[in-house]
Amino acid sequence: MQYCLDPLRANLSVLAIELRTPERRFIISNFEQLGLKPELLRALRDLHFTEPTPIQKLAIPPALEGRDVLASAQTGSGKTAAFGLPILNRLMDQPRGKTQALILAPTRELAEQIAEHLTALARHTTVRVAAVYGGVGFGQQLAAFKRGTEIIVATPGRFMDHMRSGNARLGHVTTVVLDEADRMLDMGFLPSVRRILEKIPAQRQTLFFSATLPPAISALVRDMLKDPARVELTAVHAPIELLTQRLYAVPQEHKTDLFLELLKDNNIYTAIAFTRTKHRANRLAAALAKSNIPTDVIHGDRTQAQRTRALENLKKGKCRVLVATDIAARGIDVAKLGHVVNFDVPLVAEDYVHRIGRTARAKTAGDAITFVASDEEPLIRKIEYIIGRPLAREINPLFPEVPAVAPKPRVVYQSRRRRR
Ligand code: AMP
Repeated sequence: MQYCLDPLRANLSVLAIELRTPERRFIISNFEQLGLKPELLRALRDLHFTEPTPIQKLAIPPALEGRDVLASAQTGSGKTAAFGLPILNRLMDQPRGKTQALILAPTRELAEQIAEHLTALARHTTVRVAAVYGGVGFGQQLAAFKRGTEIIVATPGRFMDHMRSGNARLGHVTTVVLDEADRMLDMGFLPSVRRILEKIPAQRQTLFFSATLPPAISALVRDMLKDPARVELTAVHAPIELLTQRLYAVPQEHKTDLFLELLKDNNIYTAIAFTRTKHRANRLAAALAKSNIPTDVIHGDRTQAQRTRALENLKKGKCRVLVATDIAARGIDVAKLGHVVNFDVPLVAEDYVHRIGRTARAKTAGDAITFVASDEEPLIRKIEYIIGRPLAREINPLFPEVPAVAPKPRVVYQSRRRRR
């Protein structure tokens, strides 16, 4: 796994730290100041993490104190270490052989990624980490429960299966993390999450991460968290120097042709193309493959093995275009991903930010290209409103005569923070 810091998230204003937590006005500039154990500091050095990210500076101190934390932060902000380091710091003093921390995440990819990241952070300790998710056999997961693996990272569905069959032991769990809680809501996992939480001793620490707080999530927060420290890094999306964003107006039926035209440019070496549905993902992948573009596809109907292989192929450069739906692509961390292609404009404007956050990571340049059919124009208005500026429009090489610039939007661009 490549460790990189997503500049989009890193730019989430450090100002937010001062605005929302006036009690923490002192400047934390390194991990030593957070009071972490030497073994963890060593792992951080191995990973070349020199300075904590904003979410780490804010969330680690209350979490180390044992407080509940309610944090709004997305993939790419460094949130995994923000909850992982305090958990590891505490578990290092505890006896081995009992599951003491449970991390729930919406997708297999995210669960796997969190487990990998925590394993790297735990490398100089004896704390063990296992990922538990669906689409693969039960054997290894069963063994992980039997061993009393100290940290389990799980998707709710598979974890429920293990609970029903009596494998999962929750009696010694003292910290629970809900990661990307709003995604778990979108995916219908909330009832399972509630059932799992009911089985965990009430005397526990809950660390809650969610990019947004829709009513159902607020209700869960009210029920499950005790006087949480609130850590809010709202998506104040400062312009990212390294990320180019451009739009092409294109009729729906010509999107594939336009994509193939753009792919004649060899500068597009690795790209994720997002479609709105699984069906459209399959169709696009088939069309690209027919034109001899090395292509793969991930969505909810693909098996875990297929999804893992697709990601590996993308990372190794064997696959040029990975076609994905939003949910399947959550949490994907591919360093040096050059291009994100929004083949379909996302229905939810925030997903645009999640998608483009897949590129321009690790301080490499990135390019986010969006195809806009006429019926998708209103969605672009919402995106422009959220990111606080209009997106540049390019001449469509297939239809140079079609005006690239849509009618002027009737919105006033302003950043989210100013709107508050
Ligand atoms: P996350 O939001 O946890 O998925 O992390 C996003 C990326 O940032 C991952 O590749 C991490 O390895 C990396 N990362 C996390 N914390 C730091 C840090 N303090 N310094 C540099 N990179 C980091």
